Amino acid sequence: MTFATLGLIEPLLRALETLGYQTPTPVQAQAIPAVLAGRDLMAAAQTGTGKTAGFAVPLLQLLTTEGPKVAANSARALILCPTRELAEQVHASVAEYAQHLPLTTYAVYGGVSINPQMMKLRKGVDILVATPGRLIDLFRQNALKLNQLQTLVLDEADRMLDLGFSEELANIYRMLPKKRQTLLFSATFSDEIRLLAGQMLNDPLTIEVSPRNVAANTVKQWVVPVDKKRKSELFVHLMRKGRWKQVLVFAKTRNGVDALVDKLQGLGINADGIHGDKPQATRQRALDRFKSSEVQILVATDVAARGLDIEDLPLVVNFDLPIVAEDYIHRIGRTGRAGNTGEAISLVCADEVNMLSAIEMLTRQTLTRKMEPDFEPEHRVPDTDASGQVVKKPKKPKKPKTSGGGGKRNLGKWVDSGDAAPVEPSIKPVRKVPVFNTGPRKKK
Ligand code: AMP
Repeated sequence: MTFATLGLIEPLLRALETLGYQTPTPVQAQAIPAVLAGRDLMAAAQTGTGKTAGFAVPLLQLLTTEGPKVAANSARALILCPTRELAEQVHASVAEYAQHLPLTTYAVYGGVSINPQMMKLRKGVDILVATPGRLIDLFRQNALKLNQLQTLVLDEADRMLDLGFSEELANIYRMLPKKRQTLLFSATFSDEIRLLAGQMLNDPLTIEVSPRNVAANTVKQWVVPVDKKRKSELFVHLMRKGRWKQVLVFAKTRNGVDALVDKLQGLGINADGIHGDKPQATRQRALDRFKSSEVQILVATDVAARGLDIEDLPLVVNFDLPIVAEDYIHRIGRTGRAGNTGEAISLVCADEVNMLSAIEMLTRQTLTRKMEPDFEPEHRVPDTDASGQVVKKPKKPKKPKTSGGGGKRNLGKWVDSGDAAPVEPSIKPVRKVPVFNTGPRKKK
């Protein structure tokens, strides 16, 4: 199959050829004809599947071939994204696909001044990429009208809900014209996503290109057990041993990002960090320097790293495991993209065993553990597997208080099904989502 057989017009084919896209990815092969036919879409496609072109390319074609010219302070298509980084990235891709078309595109997001955005919207734009909060601000200040809107795209809808945007989405929903095409993309289909889809979509075509919640199989994943206090030492050791050249590292908190970056910089390692406390311009600069290999190690929180697309990223390191198990899939989706192979290494301490277990359940695989000599943890990380059970080592039996009937008892290996029940992590996510998608547990 080629892009031409999907019925795309010549200026789009030319743009895709320049970008080196030879054959449509599975999500593109399904989404492009459906969007061109005007259908609503509910697509389960994780990052790295080529989903952006899957919705943007046919959307550009529809906007070129159908509909009136864009009016002042209007948009004909709206792409909603959870973060500024993703909005920038999606906009960059849309602009590339649209390079030979007479369409205008623009991205708006918070954290930067609203005035230039209001100015830019005066003439109207064909495709507007936006984060929910800023979109509402612009709408309320009459800088944007949505009555001309033909198509709405919700990109990474699950992430928008994770970040607490459900109220904003409900507000935006009320701002939209009833007659429109809606395309929803999400890495996972939770009950909340299905509810959102039920409200927003009209007889959607459902596309599922990779097995639900299963991480890209082009990524080699493993775990290195280690004591919490020795994580940064282990990171530096592995980095030197493996001669890592370009690594995206995930830490759980903003402080964690800063602490690791300080430590690495103190050792003369070229590292930088991005998190939500840093201004957008600083984040973008760090990202650009990482992309151009000026920065070797980029440490990020989940929110800041959302949607980063760095070509051929060879390695992702989870310095801390994510609090929300689904984030593991998003994180490792930064590597092994579009068929390339990648590696994802997680440094896991005993405290994180329940998160590890939740990830293994979600991805339906038991992650290989590789003990690093000289870094074997004092606090053992209990065994886990894809069934979600955490297997503890047998405890020493207590000495019987009375002498009768006592002696040594062999309790053997035991499974603590009580411990295997879902455990709330110490830090809770901002919204009311189940922290771990652990599902019902088997009891032995
Ligand atoms: P996405 O899932 O949209 O973030 O895309 C992941 C990566 O795959 C991006 O770097 C795209 O430029 C690239 N890509 C998307 N579609 C294709 C294609 N058909 N052929 C080659 N690369 C692609």
